Amino acid sequence: MNSYVPEKIIVDRAVRNDPFTQNLLEKFSDVPCEILENYSWHKNENNPDPAKNPLTEGKKILHLKYFAGNSIKSCPGITNGAVCCNYFTLDLIENCPLECSYCILQAFLNKPVITVHANLAEVLNQVRQHVSSQPQRLFRVGTGEHSDSLALDPVLEINKQVVPFFGELDNAILELKTKSNHVDHLLDLPHQGNTVIAWSLNPPYIVEQEEHKTAALHERLQAACKVLEAGYKVAFHFDPMIYYPDWENGYRQLVHQLLETIPVASIAWISLGTLRYIPKLKTMVEERFPKSTIFLGEFIQGEDGKMRYLKKVRQRMFQTVRQEIHKLAPQVTTYLCMEKVPVWQHTMPVHPTTNDELDDMLSNNFQQQFRQCF
Ligand code: SF4
Repeated sequence: MNSYVPEKIIVDRAVRNDPFTQNLLEKFSDVPCEILENYSWHKNENNPDPAKNPLTEGKKILHLKYFAGNSIKSCPGITNGAVCCNYFTLDLIENCPLECSYCILQAFLNKPVITVHANLAEVLNQVRQHVSSQPQRLFRVGTGEHSDSLALDPVLEINKQVVPFFGELDNAILELKTKSNHVDHLLDLPHQGNTVIAWSLNPPYIVEQEEHKTAALHERLQAACKVLEAGYKVAFHFDPMIYYPDWENGYRQLVHQLLETIPVASIAWISLGTLRYIPKLKTMVEERFPKSTIFLGEFIQGEDGKMRYLKKVRQRMFQTVRQEIHKLAPQVTTYLCMEKVPVWQHTMPVHPTTNDELDDMLSNNFQQQFRQCF
């Protein structure tokens, strides 16, 4: 995988003297830099309309922002009537240098630049306050909602601060979700067992066809082996599973490759989810990735407005993968992402009916498996 190099850096004046900003500007001293009062893509008349600007160009601009909002939030899945795992998302970066054809960020973010919340100390302080308000609860917190958690990390080195920070918390687990193999800088960090590094997996055919600029499947698994040696826990997300003519073989082989490479006892969880998208994504994908085949198959719009495969197709895909996992590793915790109770009942061995039940299941399994007391 290539490392990201920005072509321009825009800095909000409020974070100009922040140590994070200073380090980055030193690292990229030959990259043009602009300091602005409060950069906003829409208000900057020199920039073209983001809807017409190729997103690939926008990603070459790095914006260091003072983030004044609430950085730790409930996962958006909690509102759509699905059984949600009560996950929390921590917003550190918006947008991603990788180019998955199906990436929802293309349609979701209102600006094409990559934005980094540079007031990291304040952002992490919000996390400390949030988790300390409920000391009896185990919080699972992920940074992969609005970007890949590690794709930019060799450049930004954000997780050199975030991983040790979570290592000091008594009741929170950090999950870093990635399709990269950028882990070398994490290996010596004092994670204290509180960080799970998770890979989103797809069969090699889909990785090559749809997940541009990401690490190959074997590189992701090699990276997982490296972090295991450094004492991290790992997790895997078969998400988004994509329907294609040879999907059954592809996903069965993927399960085998995973479980023959990674020791089962070190896997914290495996989630399953199929492709979902908001309707306006389709036009963007057709323009940006004309060779993509992700829209093969029949889709139906759900109550949350997102398009999904028909229920019977999703259920078959979940059953196939879950059964294959069960044959090789019956003890591994598996769960569905963004699916309602009837789909759980048709596909999974356990059927939590509420968010709290699923949250308890994941937290209890994690604690029992790794014998940690929170
Ligand atoms: S890795 Fe995730 S955030 Fe990055 S392009 Fe792919 S889907 Fe989008």
